[in-house]
Amino acid sequence: MTRTRIAPSPTGYPHIATIYQALFDYAYARRMKGKFVVRIEDTDRARFVPDAEEKLYEALDWFGLIEDESPRKDGKFAPYKQSERLELYHQYAQELVEKGHAYYCFCSKERLYEIRQKQQLAKKPVMYDRLCRSLSQEEVTKKLTEQMPHVIRMKVPDNRTIIAVDEIRGSIEFDSSVVDDQVLMKADGFPTYHLAVIVDDHLMEISDVVRGEEWIPSFPKHILLYEFFGWQIPKFYHTSVLRNPDKSKLSKRQGHTSIQWYMDEGFLPESILNYIALLGWSHPMQKEVFPLSEFIEHFDLKDMKAIGPIFDLVKLAWMNGMYIREMETKKLAGKLIERFPDY
Ligand code: GLU
Repeated sequence: MTRTRIAPSPTGYPHIATIYQALFDYAYARRMKGKFVVRIEDTDRARFVPDAEEKLYEALDWFGLIEDESPRKDGKFAPYKQSERLELYHQYAQELVEKGHAYYCFCSKERLYEIRQKQQLAKKPVMYDRLCRSLSQEEVTKKLTEQMPHVIRMKVPDNRTIIAVDEIRGSIEFDSSVVDDQVLMKADGFPTYHLAVIVDDHLMEISDVVRGEEWIPSFPKHILLYEFFGWQIPKFYHTSVLRNPDKSKLSKRQGHTSIQWYMDEGFLPESILNYIALLGWSHPMQKEVFPLSEFIEHFDLKDMKAIGPIFDLVKLAWMNGMYIREMETKKLAGKLIERFPDY
């Protein structure tokens, strides 16, 4: 069964890029009669924003991209919030240590900082130097008994070509000698994204993973983790970063990345969905204006294009105008009264 998900981190208010991915996940799950899941990846405690999750639901409701399973809805694979799944990550990290695919690392922050400085000066890739890989079992047990702060790192094999398949971009090859021994479990007992995402996508039976292209450098680590566990790899689709017409990255500071901004400025959710559907996909009949139901009917994840989509507010405003002009007078009147109660 097709199962898709968005996995936002509650580190800020919902971003247009989250809705961009949610739209593809939602539409594909609907078309395939599958399920669309929301998982909250709240493992970064330092950047946690308390009402971010609530705002995400508000945004999903506003757009009508209603999920089938999530922390607010529950479901067969609950809990859907990573902070409530810590025991699982410990268990799986432990499994990797036992199988010899991961190891305890007791290096201090100061030592790691020094290594990084040296590597940067020598213009070498910044990576952990694998010192703790050579600790004996006795040394590890002793340090653990002494409750010395530690992390768990994955053991990346030497001299391997790792082939990662992206359904939009094709096969990508990585040389394992430049892949870092990634931390899987942090010193605070929380997993990193890398471990948690693999465990959860597997346990939640996610068939198709749509995520931003910023995760491509981590892709070989994830492929290795699937291999270590002996799990089937889902299909991956890395979407391109949304850009301004001048090609710069849409940034939070410009304001129009936040969903609230669109709500306040009088944009209609249906026109935004229509507009963003066209960033990375084109209608088989080259139509520009079509409802969500028509998008669901035609959309296939594999038809997405790996082009840098330009998010043009002027074009979106034009699209919004089309929708406003098409709107039933009564509905439009209601919206206007709601928006301008004092007139
Ligand atoms: N929590 C990750 C993020 O917010 C999710 C990435 C993914 O979809 O796997 O970037």
